[in-house]
Amino acid sequence: MAKHPPMQEPMDYVTEEELLHMAAKHNKPTLADYARAIVDTECRWCGRSLKHRRVDHYDHSDGWPVHGFDRLQWLSIKCPKCGYDWALWKLGVPRHEKD
Ligand SMILES: [Zn+2]
Repeated sequence: MAKHPPMQEPMDYVTEEELLHMAAKHNKPTLADYARAIVDTECRWCGRSLKHRRVDHYDHSDGWPVHGFDRLQWLSIKCPKCGYDWALWKLGVPRHEKD
């Protein structure tokens, strides 16, 4: 898993560590928490900002734990300009590691 240098992470973002900690305590992160955890905030194809976008989700066994959902959810944000569906792991939000 690619690690981003800490200096590139804005201070008000939820960190990877915090997200996994919340999930581990069954105090699961909300969709908004995941949206805030995005590290790569621009579409790599067209450059449009992906911040403050609605996070799309659906049941997926390889997805992320989300508050309010019993099953793991696949999370993505659709670029409003070019329409590309960015899975959140491509934007720097790690998935829950299975043992
Ligand atoms: Zn785009």
